Amino acid sequence: MDVGVATALVGALCGPALARSAYQMSVDAGSPARRRCGHCGQRLPAGAFRFPLWTGRCGQCGDRLGPRVWAVALAAAVGGFAVGHRLGNDPAVLTFLVFALGCVLLAFVDVAVRRLPDQLTAPLAVLGVVGLGTANYLNRDMTPLLRGLIGAALAGGLFLALAWVRPDGEGMGLGDAKLAAVLGLYLGYLGWSDLVLGMFAGTFAAAVFAVVMLRTGRMDRKSALAYGPFLLLGALIAVLFG
Ligand SMILES: [Zn+2]
Repeated sequence: MDVGVATALVGALCGPALARSAYQMSVDAGSPARRRCGHCGQRLPAGAFRFPLWTGRCGQCGDRLGPRVWAVALAAAVGGFAVGHRLGNDPAVLTFLVFALGCVLLAFVDVAVRRLPDQLTAPLAVLGVVGLGTANYLNRDMTPLLRGLIGAALAGGLFLALAWVRPDGEGMGLGDAKLAAVLGLYLGYLGWSDLVLGMFAGTFAAAVFAVVMLRTGRMDRKSALAYGPFLLLGALIAVLFG
């Protein structure tokens, strides 16, 4: 059986927990995570075991909270399939699966509040170095990790430069640069062509989207675009087709 089917299933099953995490983490910079319904103030059910039971609605007033659970589950299944299909039985597949689920969470948080919280990008960076380093150690070849670290520096540096060019808060931000560095680590680990394809596809998708939105008048030149989901889409394309 294709490993991708198993990892897609794991991803789908994580959908409710990811959807609840996305709701709780979709806050302004510096604000604590949400613990209550944003409509009626009812406390969200406590306990880690309640996360997989999340329905996307408040238990008290029934209002929808955060992203739709089926959409998150679908995105997690696609991400899970991509990494499982690509890596197969490689020891790095577990690290990539957690990375894919973290990316799904990042995408939904970025769409909701235009932020890519450090609480998500930093652990994914640490996980990458430790998890992929361990996989390389088991495979007795450290070259992929080294390539990933160089990829992180290149991608992070490029987007840091873009953020610096536009310091007015529009366009690329620091969060995008940090995400680009993390994606550079994982895509660089897979190969140079994956890194280039991922960054190019992500930037291209964002540009096409911006042009369409400008042409149809749904966005003006001053609108801020959340780049995170496009960078993540580029990474998905690279993992699937690289
Ligand atoms: Zn409520």
